[in-house]
Amino acid sequence: MHIFAIANQKGGVGKTTTAVNLAAALGANGQRTLLVDLDPQGNATTGCGVDKRNLQASVYQVLLRLASFEDARVPSPSGQFDVLPANRDLAGAEVELVDLEAREMRLKTALAAHQADYDFVLIDCPPSLSMLTLNGLCAAHGVIIPMQCEYYALEGLSDLVNTIKKVHANLNRDLKIIGLLRVMFEPGRTLAQQVSAQLEEHFGDKVFKTLVPRNVRLAEAPSYGVPGVLFDKAAKGSQAYMAFAVEMIDRVNSWKDKS
Ligand code: ADP
Ligand code: MG
Repeated sequence: MHIFAIANQKGGVGKTTTAVNLAAALGANGQRTLLVDLDPQGNATTGCGVDKRNLQASVYQVLLRLASFEDARVPSPSGQFDVLPANRDLAGAEVELVDLEAREMRLKTALAAHQADYDFVLIDCPPSLSMLTLNGLCAAHGVIIPMQCEYYALEGLSDLVNTIKKVHANLNRDLKIIGLLRVMFEPGRTLAQQVSAQLEEHFGDKVFKTLVPRNVRLAEAPSYGVPGVLFDKAAKGSQAYMAFAVEMIDRVNSWKDKS
């Protein structure tokens, strides 16, 4: 089981779109996949067609050990993957976890009991470096960082990289940056090309080969509760996320070959 946190403390950079579409694309490739929504906004939950107002239990109850993982997990109505859903309740977890023991290990512990159930677990983190994101980073083996190729993209990156380094040093020796995913890419823009080239120069093979273009079909899909890759398979953005799933599968297979 490979666990990946999809993180970037900036909002609106494509974390949820990446989490939902990668989960659906991995599922479509026969990978047993779980999508964990760790954002109180619950966008990943609704984006895959789960009604966040009508949950029997959510990731909030799992983190606070008020419900079991099995009670909260639901199959995605729109794709071949499972969802550990979230809603507004999760906003309270930030405060309620503070006084509890092993507060940052709650998600890790919950997932550990389900090692055998999944090939991939994807964690959609909230836009902050909070206790929730910390739970995501402590549970994960690696971080996938979606980013837009804009002028300020690199600035925010150093905070995230420092947080990942601290978590690696103090809480989770397994954690590493898997890669930077360029999203909402506009190939026609010179600035986008320049920033993209800069990323490749600085981060080398930590930059995924797949480029996800800006594509309105990916933005429309959530309102239908269907991941873009299933909503419109022919759309350029969908094809990019299908290619990204193959890149991720190749990546984890290359680790197996080495070990
Ligand atoms: P985050 O989870 O980082 O806040 P989202 O995935 O919710 O970011 O994306 C922010 C907005 O951008 C959403 O409205 C989403 O539909 C849109 N979006 C994300 N990726 C793309 C893309 N490749 N092309 C067009 N719109 C996109
Ligand atoms: Mg989001």
